[in-house]
Amino acid sequence: MAQVQTIRGPIDTSALGRVLVHEHVFLMNMEYTQNYRPDFFEDQTVARAAAKLNAVKAAGIDTIIDLTVLGLGRHIPNLAKVAAQTQLNMIVSTGVYTFDEVPGPFAFYGPGLLCDAPEPMVAHFVRDIVEGIAGTGIRAGELKCAIDMPGLTPGVERVMRAVARAHVMTGKPITVHTAPKAETGLVVQRVLAQEGVNLEDVIIGHCGDTGDVDYLMKLADKGSILGMDRFGIHFTITTEERVNTIAQMVKRGYVDHLTLSHDCACWSDFFPTVEAYNTAMPDHHYLHIHREILPALLEAGVTQGQIDRMFIDNPRRHFEAAAKRFATRVT
Ligand SMILES: [Zn+2]
Repeated sequence: MAQVQTIRGPIDTSALGRVLVHEHVFLMNMEYTQNYRPDFFEDQTVARAAAKLNAVKAAGIDTIIDLTVLGLGRHIPNLAKVAAQTQLNMIVSTGVYTFDEVPGPFAFYGPGLLCDAPEPMVAHFVRDIVEGIAGTGIRAGELKCAIDMPGLTPGVERVMRAVARAHVMTGKPITVHTAPKAETGLVVQRVLAQEGVNLEDVIIGHCGDTGDVDYLMKLADKGSILGMDRFGIHFTITTEERVNTIAQMVKRGYVDHLTLSHDCACWSDFFPTVEAYNTAMPDHHYLHIHREILPALLEAGVTQGQIDRMFIDNPRRHFEAAAKRFATRVT
């Protein structure tokens, strides 16, 4: 049996339980928040987040993967304060979220650049996984990068290859933010495979944003898990379409390739206040799947056993298979 790093330390994969594979707790532009959102640093922001996560645990969900990496305002001190007030498992991530260029600190620092050095991002990611993040001892359990509508820009490719190398060095699985509209999941699979990543160790994120079953089958046929992970976001595709796509994929035999999540947050500066976020996106919260989507899936012909595979077995396999492969590679 394998172990997974959570914010409170390692747990056995059997303790993961029901997992929301793509969420955030705090989501922000850190510079903006530092300057214009003093409320983020108030105790009640932590207390409110803990209350929300406790409600998630009470509903029978045991674990969330927090995919807030560099570029999305990862703030481990506040996250650790929240973790101390909830029994929900939180797996934190390392990586970079960008659609075009590398973050400023890497623009002149790296192979062949003004400050010529081996790719510094690899060392950063590996340190987050092996030693812990920013001196906290909290170790990342997942790697993350992104490729959106602009496709494989030089910056996106540099990050993706750095994530792949950190994966090969540590055995931690990968989630990638993708844009199904541009079929960027296929690009992810090509680049990661070139770097020696087994595509079964990869969740292709935001696959739920399309109803194009042919595209989804192509990704799944190469072994990857698909993130049906934006429930509660209504501006790309309707909830009904999201549910129907899952039902169709299940019917075609792909239940072992599906995972569920919302991609939501407790607190985000994407909206001026928490209240404004809740008003603008009333279904975008951690309990939407539990309350509204599971009944809709059952109605659409998906069985409880199949839901358990998406919610429990597939996320567990995501960590176990990667760990097992890594162990056989290094021994
Ligand atoms: Zn996300």
